[in-house]
Amino acid sequence: MELISSSISNIRALEVKYGRPQNSVRLLAVSKKKSIKHILQAVNNGISHFGENYAQEALEKIEMLKKECKLTWHFIGPIQSNKAAKIAQNFDWVQSLDREKIAVKLNENRGSKHNALNICIQVNVSEESTKSGVAMNQAEDLCGIVENLPNLNLRGLMAIPAPESNFKIQREKYRELSNKFNDLKKIYPSIDVLSIGMSNDYEAAIAEGSTMVRLGTALFGARL
Ligand SMILES: *Cc1c(COP(=O)(O)O)cnc(C)c1O
Repeated sequence: MELISSSISNIRALEVKYGRPQNSVRLLAVSKKKSIKHILQAVNNGISHFGENYAQEALEKIEMLKKECKLTWHFIGPIQSNKAAKIAQNFDWVQSLDREKIAVKLNENRGSKHNALNICIQVNVSEESTKSGVAMNQAEDLCGIVENLPNLNLRGLMAIPAPESNFKIQREKYRELSNKFNDLKKIYPSIDVLSIGMSNDYEAAIAEGSTMVRLGTALFGARL
């Protein structure tokens, strides 16, 4: 509880510190491996956007909480092709899109009875071969593909840089993404979300223009 309210005040203070407009940084609570009780604590602190990485775990939570509260669910983990349909039908956002094949599946399975599924393209900013995400220079092509799929709504970029403790280097990585985000916005006016910043580096992300920080540990403590 303490952790949650102090993280929220910290985000507001960082907006001021870096000259960002008030409430321009949304908090996404990353609830993977955390219980319904944790989620309800966050809800009691006014949080309504939640991020999950594992489809099966998330679907159970979404189902359980459906009646109790109106929450917005973001899928932020690697997407297996055989889970794309369930993800398309049960989430409001997918932030981890990194290939055309999955974009096509999400679009097919979203169907026109739902609102369009909000999409962020995951960029692999550290160019690690093991991490998901498109290379920076491929982001624009994937944006073009998403833009042409009627049941998807292109919203922006998401990234998970390699862990780095040096604040200056954290900022440099995030600045590259922020520049790309600003370039893409000129081409695709629906783009308005730069999803960067996790528990150990969200100050750097807010300094560089993040519009959504994704916090797990900072809100709920360590994951076991
Ligand atoms: C787990 C996770 C987070 C939260 O990480 P913390 O370091 O616990 O804040 C954020 N984004 C993604 C994509 C994650 O998988």
